[in-house]
Amino acid sequence: MSPSRERRPAATSVDVVVVGAGFAGLSAAERLVSTGLSVLVLEGRDRVGGRSLSGEVAGVPVDFGATWVARRHTAIRDLANRVGCTTTGQFNQGRNVLWMAGRRRTYRGTIPKVSPMALVDMARVQLALEKLVATVDVDAAWESPRAGEFDAISFGEWLDRKNALAPTRALMTVVSKVQWGCSPGDVSLLHALRYIRAAGGVDHMLDVEGGQQQDRYLETTQEIAKRVAERLGDRVVLGTPVRWISQDDTGVMVRTDSAEITAKYAIVTVATAHRAGIAFHPALPEPAEGLVKTWRMGVLSKAFVAYDKPFWRTNGLSGEAVTDTGTVFITFDVSPDGGPGVLMAFCDPRVFDGFSPETRRSMVLRQLVQLYGTQASAPIDYVDHCWGAEPFAPGGPNPAVAPYATTSYGPALTEPHGRVHWAGTETAGEWAGCMNGAVLTGQRAAERVAAVVAREVPAR
Ligand SMILES: Cc1cc2nc3c(=O)[nH]c(=O)nc-3n(C[C@H](O)[C@H](O)[C@H](O)COP(=O)(O)OP(=O)(O)OC[C@H]3O[C@@H](n4cnc5c(N)ncnc54)[C@H](O)[C@@H]3O)c2cc1C
Repeated sequence: MSPSRERRPAATSVDVVVVGAGFAGLSAAERLVSTGLSVLVLEGRDRVGGRSLSGEVAGVPVDFGATWVARRHTAIRDLANRVGCTTTGQFNQGRNVLWMAGRRRTYRGTIPKVSPMALVDMARVQLALEKLVATVDVDAAWESPRAGEFDAISFGEWLDRKNALAPTRALMTVVSKVQWGCSPGDVSLLHALRYIRAAGGVDHMLDVEGGQQQDRYLETTQEIAKRVAERLGDRVVLGTPVRWISQDDTGVMVRTDSAEITAKYAIVTVATAHRAGIAFHPALPEPAEGLVKTWRMGVLSKAFVAYDKPFWRTNGLSGEAVTDTGTVFITFDVSPDGGPGVLMAFCDPRVFDGFSPETRRSMVLRQLVQLYGTQASAPIDYVDHCWGAEPFAPGGPNPAVAPYATTSYGPALTEPHGRVHWAGTETAGEWAGCMNGAVLTGQRAAERVAAVVAREVPAR
């Protein structure tokens, strides 16, 4: 049975209303159902998956949003296994391409082989970063010994203070754009350290082999969400933005445009910035309101370019590239076995999203030609996706949290607001920012709510 597309839910009274049908919301619902509670999942979009979205290029399914899982991402892997989705290793054989300061070079491994001086500098800065990462409490970064000091500057200012050389800065800018959808100057050092710690350290965050880019799903990651939603059946209601949540001592009332649903508890799994779309009564306490106002989403765009075959492999290249100029700042080979060649390009929204689809396509192709040669100018298909231009719940992959906002409002991330509990990858400790974190927070919130429901008097 496919999830209901009706905007009016079948039930008007349930034990728990879950807001959002991304991995956190679906995992919360799954766990609640397994404890015997009645659940409704209300999703504002006309689809499930949230920041996981499937696309297609030359008939090949691709991930517009979340793509990779690490070996240690066991929660999302378990979920995917249960619904029959399978991983494939991220292709990384051959030499990578580096385009820096107008010059093209090739190298092997994660760290680009630039000049010896630049290599030493990258190692020096990475070591200094790792030392700071190790001091951060992944579950309560704001309570870390040097939290105030780290939250008072941006990641970019810290790179300045370290006198990072241009190649180091370029690499860290790529990291910042991919992780937080912003430049290093736009994100607090503490927020960056928290996410790096949550991702298992700098190497684990950046590596393909043994790192976070280890595997991707043949069926796409949104397919995992679709299959989980399928099992939940008409408990998942699409196209139903939650506008209002009020509560008293006995329960919550959740309002959408067309329905009012009463429940004992609500679990809100939407990204912190998107909580602004919901009016809470009584109002959120100050720190929780501060989160909504200051934890803005970063933005990222992706393009997929398909060719008859992965010609770069024949030329000894892996399809992995890093650049310091232009729209495309990183590429990966996401070709299917024996099918066409597909390059995935991460694009900087500032020099991408404002252009027409035709201009965007030619900008991407121009850069791919620089990286991979003239064969890149003749694709058989092209598609792209701009997360900042999504009409509902825009942005991603993660919040771009500016200085002071983590120490000021971070403690409110998981603190329940009466009968409203929070989940979503932002609220995770370990694996915050990933699908794995989202699944873990959904399960955790469901267990907490199931436990309090069990302690309450049965009838209201
Ligand atoms: C471009 C990109 C690349 C990424 N790459 C990776 C990767 O390779 N690996 C990885 O692990 N992660 C990756 N991520 C991050 C990953 O997608 C997220 O961590 C994860 O999907 C978050 O799940 P979630 O359930 O916490 O939130 P979401 O997926 O954001 O789900 C929240 C849901 O709430 C809904 N919602 C919002 N407001 C309301 C409302 N008022 N009423 C009802 N519904 C509402 C939204 O529509 C959304 O569906 C990437 C993300 C992006 C955008």
